[in-house]
Amino acid sequence: MIPLRIPKEKYEQLNILKQRDYLDYLNEVHFSNIKKGMSKFTQVDEWVKKEIGSINSVHYDFETVIKADPSRLKVIQNIIDNKRIDDSHLWQLYDSDKKKYAYREPLRSVVNWYNNRLNKYKFTSDLGLTVCPYCNRNYISTGKKSGKNRVTSHIEHFYPKSVYPLLALSFYNLMPVCPCCNSLKGEEVFDVSIYDIEDSDKHLRFIIYPNNDEFMSSVDNFEIELDYSQEFEHNVEHLALKSLYGTHKDYVLEIMKKKEIYTKALIGEIYENNEGLFSSKEEMLIALYGNYIEEVNIHKRPLAKLTKDIYNDLGIIRSKMV
Ligand SMILES: [Zn+2]
Repeated sequence: MIPLRIPKEKYEQLNILKQRDYLDYLNEVHFSNIKKGMSKFTQVDEWVKKEIGSINSVHYDFETVIKADPSRLKVIQNIIDNKRIDDSHLWQLYDSDKKKYAYREPLRSVVNWYNNRLNKYKFTSDLGLTVCPYCNRNYISTGKKSGKNRVTSHIEHFYPKSVYPLLALSFYNLMPVCPCCNSLKGEEVFDVSIYDIEDSDKHLRFIIYPNNDEFMSSVDNFEIELDYSQEFEHNVEHLALKSLYGTHKDYVLEIMKKKEIYTKALIGEIYENNEGLFSSKEEMLIALYGNYIEEVNIHKRPLAKLTKDIYNDLGIIRSKMV
């Protein structure tokens, strides 16, 4: 739902200036750890070269699969999905009687190895994620318990490892999300990866629809609607976003009332009366609203996307009512 935004300090200390370059750096480290630690690497590499081979002038080996970016992952997914029809030499990958992927078995030991080895704490910590990028409702924090690293996220496979075991180790197929979203998504395949979202508004916006003129007086007098792109339909449906966000009406009502109270004049007055307390009016607004209200910050706190949308749309809603 929300763009992946890695804190700048994470990559600036490595003298890396762009988020995408930092992700590629992590991808490289991820690959080299797998290559170093996996005794069956060569065996699987040969297997991938033999079974996938060359498609559209690209030679596929295990490294290509592990390092595949989101668009390349989609290509590999299509290869896997379509080869039964289009590519006769790939027929052998399937157990046509049981209609299952026959390559599950050869890869099983690798996937198990990986599940035991992946450092979920480090993975979440390296990305600097603190709030679930799927729902923007739950924190996914890293911390320590009895001296041991602990994390409240699950590592989600965008392409489920039970359906696409070949992609189970691919860096861009892995994303830390909250346990709730991981469980709700299950084995569904979404169309939009968090690694590909640049602007949250392109895919989803929260809108308030008043039921009557008294919509500010009760949670029963308005509805929270979701306006989303066609490619985001699966995300909305399988993460149950509409019904889950329906439980936040009391929170939305607070935002609407705060917008009513904090007029432009009052905001200016509060800012002047508290000279030096805030570095900017934006910072003061975050304190007044109890959340971030700008796109660049919505990954930092639960419900920030909802707060931003309601804050920005309230004028439009009100004009509809007049
Ligand atoms: Zn979540």
